[in-house]
Amino acid sequence: MEKEITIRKPSDMHLHLRQGDMLKTTVRDASAWFAQGVVMPNTVPAINTPERLISYRDEILSRNPGFKPIMSFKLYSGMSASEVKAMADAGAVLGKLYPAGVTTNSEDGVKSWLDIKETLGAMSDLNLVLSIHCEWPDTFVLDREYEYHREFAAIAKAFPDLRMVFEHISDRRSINFVAGLPDRVAGTITAHHLLLTLDDVIGANMNPHTFCKPVVKGPADREALRQAAFSGDKKFFFGSDSAPHLKAKKESEAAAGGIYSSPVAVPLMTQLFEEKGKLEKLENFMSVYGPAFYSIKPAESCITLVQKKSTIPAVIDGIVPLYAEKTVSWSIKA
Ligand SMILES: [Zn+2]
Repeated sequence: MEKEITIRKPSDMHLHLRQGDMLKTTVRDASAWFAQGVVMPNTVPAINTPERLISYRDEILSRNPGFKPIMSFKLYSGMSASEVKAMADAGAVLGKLYPAGVTTNSEDGVKSWLDIKETLGAMSDLNLVLSIHCEWPDTFVLDREYEYHREFAAIAKAFPDLRMVFEHISDRRSINFVAGLPDRVAGTITAHHLLLTLDDVIGANMNPHTFCKPVVKGPADREALRQAAFSGDKKFFFGSDSAPHLKAKKESEAAAGGIYSSPVAVPLMTQLFEEKGKLEKLENFMSVYGPAFYSIKPAESCITLVQKKSTIPAVIDGIVPLYAEKTVSWSIKA
């Protein structure tokens, strides 16, 4: 008989759904595996007004009313307390801080937290979560995340009630850093950072489909991330950072950063946890700790996975997914 596991339907605590036609693909694929998702605001134009937040949410819901989008807004220098309040009133649960120039559509990001003091104070007062892409620009690429620790610590110190998420942890030094901060600080971990190392990007021929920001790092970093995911520490939970780009945009001389993992992340995580004898930790990591940190209900529905091999497609609607053409040993139970 095939081995099975039933867990609460996962919550993706960091998700890029993109816009326009791509929403058809991204919402379909995310909702197949996830009950809800923290939707990132780095669209063009960015989600930084109440009108845009509401229309983006409506567009997502129109694709699948059964998938709950947890809405964010993008912080900008000089954002006032009343503007933050308007975002909260429109339904935002978190604000996302992109340091200027670190990733897709972040050219207009924030240079220093000193430029958004009023913004952060208002977020703290309104109990909104601050989510941060933690990389300090213009430093050596493999140290950028570590170089951001100082800025993160300064914000945490200045706003002692603010809940903060260190997004997509990739560096082993960040695991210790987050673990050492109070319980109001948590970190998301992606499937690709738990599965890949730099060898998968540049160890053989350069593979743009494994290129993302922050870049995947060494075996010791991956191991530290895995230990955090397996630890049962509620500070560490799943956020896919699934970030699709069309195949042509990845296979170019300026490959865009981002990995499309929504369609495969849950079976791949089940496979990893099972292989490492940690299957009993899977549900909390995928489905419980993230919503708990955000004070959001976890899914009431469940999904069942069976240990049954399938091959991941080479391309899904023009996008090359994580682990394309590879075999995954778990599938959703029909
Ligand atoms: Zn992201």
